Amino acid sequence: MRVLVVEDDDGIAQGLKAHLRQQGWAVDVTDGVAGAWAALRAEPFDLVLLDLGLADGDGAQVLRQLRAAPEGRLPAPGTPVLIMTARDQVASRIAGLDMGADDYVTKPFDPGELAARMRALVRRAAGRAQATLQVGDLQIDPAARTVQRAGLPLELSAREFGVLLALAEARPRVLSRAQIEARLYSWDNALDSNAIEVHVHHLRRKLGDGVIRTLRGVGYFVPENLPGDRP
Ligand code: CA
Repeated sequence: MRVLVVEDDDGIAQGLKAHLRQQGWAVDVTDGVAGAWAALRAEPFDLVLLDLGLADGDGAQVLRQLRAAPEGRLPAPGTPVLIMTARDQVASRIAGLDMGADDYVTKPFDPGELAARMRALVRRAAGRAQATLQVGDLQIDPAARTVQRAGLPLELSAREFGVLLALAEARPRVLSRAQIEARLYSWDNALDSNAIEVHVHHLRRKLGDGVIRTLRGVGYFVPENLPGDRP
């Protein structure tokens, strides 16, 4: 999962980055309206954490422009947005929600609560009510970052888990290698060109061959109707 943090207080931004990385998010940080807009036009994000009082303008401007953007290309107008406001900014909170923000937190916030709200938003954006994903006989828990098969835990690396989660969330759509990379790695996290292939190779060894399929020349996908799927 990839999040864009728009925050001009460097202390808060770096704290968020460290905390969210620990939770398995790919985190990009920008400090203003211009930077946020440039990032949203360049890369797909699963979520935006948006401060309203920014050095070069009002974060609400980003939100308004994002929601008004045309469908089908970047920036994706439906990207979930969680606004961060000071406790006394009730009016701007209301305005933000009316403008299309999906949720808010007030500063100072509890990092655990923030992470749970972020997971809930991503879940809702994917149209899921359940907190876990069922893929065949696998149970994927995005909060705990664990995978179980028939109640027994599978040992996956953080990257392998990220690849599997991205494909499970997108199921049955095909994700290209570049799309998977974009969800796993942020700008300052360079990677080997064949890293995704290597993770998929390891995943197949651990999960069996049927779960992650290859569409030659296009990418990877998790098919519908795997044995063990709930009807
Ligand atoms: Ca601020």
